[in-house]
This record gives sequence, structure tokens and C-alpha cells, in this order.
Amino acid sequence: MRDSTPLADRTAIVTGGASGIGRATAFLLARQGARVFAADIDFVAGTEADFAAENIAQIVCDVTNETDVAGLMEWAETQTGRLDIVVNSAGVGLVKQITDVTVEEWDRCLDTNVKGAFLTAKHAIPKMRAMGGGSIINIASNAGLLPRAHDPVYSISKGALIALTKSLALCHAPDRIRINAVCPGPVGETRMMDAGLAAAPDRATAVRELLAASPFANACGRMITPEEVAQAVLYLVSDAALFVTGTSIAIDGGKSLGVPPKMG
Ligand code: NAD
Repeated sequence: MRDSTPLADRTAIVTGGASGIGRATAFLLARQGARVFAADIDFVAGTEADFAAENIAQIVCDVTNETDVAGLMEWAETQTGRLDIVVNSAGVGLVKQITDVTVEEWDRCLDTNVKGAFLTAKHAIPKMRAMGGGSIINIASNAGLLPRAHDPVYSISKGALIALTKSLALCHAPDRIRINAVCPGPVGETRMMDAGLAAAPDRATAVRELLAASPFANACGRMITPEEVAQAVLYLVSDAALFVTGTSIAIDGGKSLGVPPKMG
């Protein structure tokens, strides 16, 4: 019979857990039996009951702040006696050409998208190693597989996150800690996507262009959902993926494969 709670007794931390992919991942892991700590710099007011109903703790944490991150890991371990899974979903976008990017904007993007994953790895790995293993998932992007002209600094940050994933997977295989990346394409129902579309001169045109760049999304006539990305995370943290490490799984409807075919 299929185990309905395959993550029972496991402790998971999900950064960026207030919203979008992080929130969907936190809920999916909790429903699979994990004890989940959702960490975010900005929880949405009024969502406390939804998280509590799934027994998910909401922890305010800035992933760019080492004291916050160290405290988050310590709190989860103290509460449950374990730390098995860390999902780094906290991230910010930056749509600007390099000549217009300020040092502050560069730092915010790289600090959130890369330094955040460095800090969680730094503080999670000793705990996972002491337990005999663990699993870390970095939510990168199709932009990390194939850079995009409209957001070079974001693309750089996600490329670096994939490099971090491979390097740490190599270093920590002896500790039985698996480190993988998921590279989503256009994901709707996220604050990042909503902000991007709100900034576009014409929302319908922007959606059409986003779909056109992702041939399978175009064929389906819709964006990817946060829950569909969360399913890839669930596979990667599960025992079914025991020998999967250092990989980057694209959940992008083929966006990072190359120039898409013209659709009728
Ligand atoms: P989202 O904006 O809904 O979620 C990102 C979350 O990160 C937010 O809740 C935000 O408050 C949090 N966050 C930002 N800075 C933080 C910080 N310093 N400390 C803690 N939390 C912080 O958007 P999303 O699409 O769910 O984004 C999740 C991840 O997926 C991001 O890393 C993003 O780059 C990546 N991604 C998204 C898409 C997409 O189309 N939405 C595509 C590819 C990759």
C-alpha cells in the first residue's frame, strides 16, 4: 500500500514560504507528513489560520541576515530535534539593463537569491551531517539555465545558484546530503509574477509574450502553478530521489530549451 505520509518525522524549512512556490511547497510537504517551518520576511496578514491548520509554523526571517538564518535553523532543530529538508524559495526579481542597475539593487538581488542559499547551507549542513544526511533544494529559474536579455542580474543570480547547487552537492555527498535545484518557467499566482505583470504596459500582451516563450505553457494556454513546481520539490526531497544530487530540474514548459516553435 502507498504510504500517505512519506515525510512523517521529517523537519523541513521553506524560505520564501509566505507566498507562491514557497507557500505551495510548505503546504505540500506538511500534507506529506513533514513538520514544516515557513520562513519569510513578509507574511501576508490574515494567513496565520491557514498555516496553523496545516501545523506549519510562520517564522519571520530575512535570508540575507546571518543571525536570522542561524536562529531559524536552531529554532527548527530545538522544536523537533531534527533538520532534514531546506527549500530555498526566497527570491527577488530585477528587470533592468546592467547600465541602469545600482549597486544597492545588485546587492539586494544577489544577496537574496545567492547569499541567502549560502547562509542556509552554512547553518543547515552541520545539523544534517550530524543526523547522517539531508536534502537541500534551491529554487533557481529557467533564467539560470539560459540567460534572458531583459533581466541580466537576475539571470546572473540564478546561474550562480545553480553553480552553488552543483558545488555543494559534490562537497557534501560524503555527508549523504543531497543538494538539487528546481528551475521554474512562468509561474502564476506568485507575488513575483503579479508584480511583473502590474508593471507591464499591457497585461494581456505581457501574458501572451510569457506564454509564447514557453512552448508547453503556450500549448496548455496557461502558466505553471506553484503546486506543479512543489511536486518537483517533493520528488527531490523524497527517498525516491536517493541518488539524485547536483541536478537542476526545469519545470518551465520547455522555455530553457531554445527558441520556441511558432504556434498557430
Ligand atoms: P513570490 O514573490 O510569491 O515568493 C517569494 C517570497 O520570497 C516572498 O514571499 C517574499 O516575501 C520572500 N522574500 C523575498 N526576500 C526575502 C528575504 N530577504 N528573506 C526572506 N524571504 C524573502 O514569488 P515566487 O515566484 O513564488 O518565487 C519563489 C522563487 O521562485 C524565487 O526564488 C523566484 O526567483 C523563483 N522563480 C519564480 C518564477 C515565477 O515565474 N514566479 C519563475 C522562476 C523562478
